[in-house]
Amino acid sequence: MTRPVALVTGANRGIGRGIAVALAGRGFDLVCADLAATPETAETLRLAHEAGGRHRFAALDIADVEAHAGRLAEIRAEAGPIACLVNNAGVQTPNRGDMLDVTPADFDRVLGVNLRGTFFLTQAVARLMLGEPDPAPGRSIVTISSSSATIAYPLIAPYGLSKTGLRMMTQLFALRLAEAGIGVYEIRPGFIRTEMTAAAAGPYDAFIMAGGVPERRWGTPEDVGRAVATLAGGGFTHVTGEAISVGGGLQIATVR
Ligand code: NAP
Repeated sequence: MTRPVALVTGANRGIGRGIAVALAGRGFDLVCADLAATPETAETLRLAHEAGGRHRFAALDIADVEAHAGRLAEIRAEAGPIACLVNNAGVQTPNRGDMLDVTPADFDRVLGVNLRGTFFLTQAVARLMLGEPDPAPGRSIVTISSSSATIAYPLIAPYGLSKTGLRMMTQLFALRLAEAGIGVYEIRPGFIRTEMTAAAAGPYDAFIMAGGVPERRWGTPEDVGRAVATLAGGGFTHVTGEAISVGGGLQIATVR
């Protein structure tokens, strides 16, 4: 039996690592993509190997959209057809603060990676998937957006704008790829303890423990990985274009 191949972007650490390990445990071979190989890459690959299968690293800057087709052709040649794309790579707004102070440079940086980069990588992978002569059933594209796709975080405005764009992107690609049997999904993590949230860990911690997150705990990369692996592993049928919140109930609008 050959194992399906999943391409996970931003897999060096954090949520991407959690996703890679969960997919390996679910029977996928992995292409763990990130800007460059680092000691963190080796740790992701080690953990994935422990979970089973064949796993490799690929350098892939999702913001470098001109390079996507070429890089994907190389990945396809080395690893085989991509059965699952996980759009995980993303960046936070460089300067947290009042939206009245957001600069065009910060705006372009965040939108350029999170929305523009993710859209065009998805487009390139979708073209590859549609061109496969003998595709296996159960292919999928899973995009990691954020609770900020629907909840306003005024101190990181560009980030929220990029993530709400991914919400519509998921629905658009779900429509386009439904006939080909490719399921397209969005995962909205809440507060996950990673390097991305380290800068605001104090305020987030206070918010979570005060009940802003009804489960009163931080999420983990494993929580997100489990949700992705369930979707990519065929846990749902006749379902596409849907979003799943992995945030301990954060998304529930509350009046107390
Ligand atoms: P993280 O710890 O900062 O990891 C992000 C990874 O993506 C890093 O390895 C980073 O590489 C890589 N990356 C950045 N820009 C890239 C690019 N242009 N091309 C390829 N790889 C790139 O972040 P995380 O917390 O794991 O977040 C992962 C995803 O979940 C992001 O999309 C984020 O927006 C989303 N998310 C996170 C949370 C949370 O609470 N942590 C909540 C909701 C959504 P470098 O280290 O080299 O920059």
